[in-house]
Amino acid sequence: MIRRPAVVVFVALCLPHPVAAQAPSLAEAVKSTVSDRALDRHAREITSSPRPSGSPGENAATDYVAATLRAAGVPVEIHEFMAYTSNPVSAAVTVPGTDFAPDAITMSFSGATSGAEAELLDLGTLRDLPELEVGTGERLAVRAAERWAHVRGRVVMVTGQPRNVPTAALEELGAVAAIFVNPEERLNELIVTSTWGTPSLLNAQRLPRLPAAQIRRSDGEALREMLADGPVRVRVRTVVDQGWKPLRMAVARVMPVDATEDTPYVLFGGHIDGWHYGGTDEGASNAAMLELALAFHAHRDLLRRGIVVAWWPGHSNARYGGSTWFADRYFQELRRRGLAYVNIDGIGQMGAKRFSVSTSPALRRLATDVVTAATARAPGQGRPGRNSDQSFNGIGLPLMQINHSRLAEDGGYWWWHTPEDTYDKIDLGVLRTDTDLYADALAAILSDPVVPLDLSAEVDALHEALDRREADAGGELDLTAARAVTDELGRMAARLDEARRRGDVPTELDRRVYDVLRPIHRVMFVPGSDHHPDPGLYGAPLPGLEAAAVLAEESPGANRYGFAQAYLIREVNRLVEALHESREAAASLLRAMDVRW
Ligand SMILES: [Zn+2]
Repeated sequence: MIRRPAVVVFVALCLPHPVAAQAPSLAEAVKSTVSDRALDRHAREITSSPRPSGSPGENAATDYVAATLRAAGVPVEIHEFMAYTSNPVSAAVTVPGTDFAPDAITMSFSGATSGAEAELLDLGTLRDLPELEVGTGERLAVRAAERWAHVRGRVVMVTGQPRNVPTAALEELGAVAAIFVNPEERLNELIVTSTWGTPSLLNAQRLPRLPAAQIRRSDGEALREMLADGPVRVRVRTVVDQGWKPLRMAVARVMPVDATEDTPYVLFGGHIDGWHYGGTDEGASNAAMLELALAFHAHRDLLRRGIVVAWWPGHSNARYGGSTWFADRYFQELRRRGLAYVNIDGIGQMGAKRFSVSTSPALRRLATDVVTAATARAPGQGRPGRNSDQSFNGIGLPLMQINHSRLAEDGGYWWWHTPEDTYDKIDLGVLRTDTDLYADALAAILSDPVVPLDLSAEVDALHEALDRREADAGGELDLTAARAVTDELGRMAARLDEARRRGDVPTELDRRVYDVLRPIHRVMFVPGSDHHPDPGLYGAPLPGLEAAAVLAEESPGANRYGFAQAYLIREVNRLVEALHESREAAASLLRAMDVRW
């Protein structure tokens, strides 16, 4: 029996978003076409085999998606390309001379070793080590590195999830190997590289060499008990299958009936590879993507804009290798035609209770209004992290993801990235609710007379980020020039939003609002270069100014201060130039609309 949400009726009664209110016909048509039985059939099929990237299981899932689309007449491309992948094979953590030999795994892109042996050093808990969590440039600059001299030559044990930042920091500090102790009594598959997509000549040197293993909480406690009695020598072995693999990617293109080579489109993506059977991470989401592609195609007569749906391979064991390949190969087309990147991941979870949205500022209001209207509850709001196939920030696409999660008091998402993530963890009622939310949000972008973007929110977020970076620098960074352009952009954004809300902006002119938005989005999400993926070490807005904090931590004359200053002056130049580009686009658009500011 499939549970249908009782709140569907609410959609018609409560639509606080004035723009979304004009889109119900496409949304309702799509939702009435999405089939519960088909969602279940797709999810069962896709989750029937393990799907590490490049595996027969992943290829079978991709072929199923493509065949289902083709049978309905949906245009679908299959791309095949080589990607640099890394599969964790096995790990062993032993204390020579004892029978201590717990279950252990290694991680994707860990260094490999037939046996690294040294005295064990316990660093405690990652949460208490902010110095190991700070990324400030293309290479990591560990704060107060001299404090960490004792790490060199040791096998380091630390409680926390194995991630790229601590791995890079411990490698830089000269550790021999790392043992990550899972904070829970389980082992979660993870990835430890700070490269993004297939490495290039620019960043291949950042592929980790440090062997990294993971053990359960209780085994970490056992090691700590041994340490309490005196020094302990530990041996770590890791086996990793790393190299080039052919990957296959299905991409559906659903365009309005009167589409041209220039018709703008939303990019809607989710990963088809998964750890083990990938039930809710993310066979369920893949099924929703498939039903939505079919339903939007069935109602393409109602589309003003197109939707390109991509099932990314290489999300985990090629570290976003699929979405990055697509961003690189379609860079110019996406700059010309891309409207937004909508990511889907982890929907349909059994026991999910909390809704949240992860968006860039321009799409926050749309996502929030869609969830509030459908569930009668305001969702939590956040900014997308540097994860989840967010490979399109250099293009400047605004971001949206809608999440529906389990509560910690219900045990949280305990099967995530484990062999327990199987089909039975999917709740078909939850999956249907979540699929309908994506239908509502996508339908608004695809059929509203103007794209529901909030430019003023974007400029407000930019103001806040400038304040924060100046505060980080403790008075050592001057952002006056950026602030002056931002003030002017704020006034222009208010005028543009007003005119667009009134709905009297011709479609051809409305597209130019992206020329205003994109330069801001890029500096808000990308450090360094729009064309080369960054290390994925950053979370906060204006990541190019992350090193502002170094100016407050160090004294003028210190090497680290001087290096940070050299980096920051270039990043401020890049920022100011981007804001001028945005200002020029706004002025030109306002003039074309005959609006004064
Ligand atoms: Zn996922």
